Amino acid sequence: MVKIPKEQNRYCPHCDTHTEQTVKEVTNVSASPMSKKHRKRQRKIDHGYGSFPYENPAIRSRGRKNPTSEKKDLRYTCKECGKGHMPKNPIRTSKLEIER
Ligand SMILES: [Zn+2]
Repeated sequence: MVKIPKEQNRYCPHCDTHTEQTVKEVTNVSASPMSKKHRKRQRKIDHGYGSFPYENPAIRSRGRKNPTSEKKDLRYTCKECGKGHMPKNPIRTSKLEIER
């Protein structure tokens, strides 16, 4: 469990200084259907290649443990300019809590 404060003093790339920023976790955003990753997957589904793609997530990584953690999609919104940006190094954790 990783707890992060809702309001942080961070660097804003738009203002080029440290400003007060609010954090928001982005969830349930579907991937773009035109992305390279998606087209590659669709090509493999159409052509067929071995047992790819693994529809069952339990056998996603063969011979290894399935990952339980993921990189969280966080958006920081600057209070000075009102613009949002993503962190350079996103936090990798299974559980994330944004404190009030
Ligand atoms: Zn700013």
